[in-house]
Amino acid sequence: MGKTERREAVRALAGQAGLSHDLLSRRPGEVSGGQNQRACIARALSTRPRLLVLDEPLTALDAVARQQMVTLLCRLKENFGLTYFLITHDLALARQIGTRVAVMYLGNLVEKAPAAAFFAEPRHPYARALLSSVLRPGFWQGKRIVLQGELPSLRRPPKGCVFHPRCAERLPICTHTAPRPRAVAEGHTVCCHLFGADPSGPSIREPGR
Ligand code: SF4
Repeated sequence: MGKTERREAVRALAGQAGLSHDLLSRRPGEVSGGQNQRACIARALSTRPRLLVLDEPLTALDAVARQQMVTLLCRLKENFGLTYFLITHDLALARQIGTRVAVMYLGNLVEKAPAAAFFAEPRHPYARALLSSVLRPGFWQGKRIVLQGELPSLRRPPKGCVFHPRCAERLPICTHTAPRPRAVAEGHTVCCHLFGADPSGPSIREPGR
């Protein structure tokens, strides 16, 4: 691109990201956290991507900037036909903009589901504890679940199910045999001995109980 064309492209992208043009000559330390996030998004869009990886995109933003950013992300998704791969501990954000959810524990995928089904009824014991920890009215209807113990080392993960040292629902099989993903509904899989038929497992629980 020539200089003029480049400048126009930058201004157009800044406009798409909701950044006013008089901010374009400023340095990162001279704008707010929200404006920096918008600049990052505009820069990412400059390559005309189909997929954007958003790694904790709302960290360090206040409540107002957060909501503005959520609105912006939803609008850009529609305008540019984007797919987002969102990596976050912010479950409220995942619920707001996610269509499919995958939960990881100690490097293992423990549950994968459509977002609506997951937030209505998470199945894996870790996923339920995770949701119960969100301090937001109405987010979790069940009993608060407080996990005991610390996250084990990734270098020496526990045998069997990696979650078993902290799981209040563990079965004898959990200490020596890693569970495999099992389908509990359309597009919904859970990696836990409590679900599905396992010939050596003494207790089989119906989904949702
Ligand atoms: S496999 Fe066993 S230890 Fe692991 S989450 Fe399920 S019940 Fe708990």
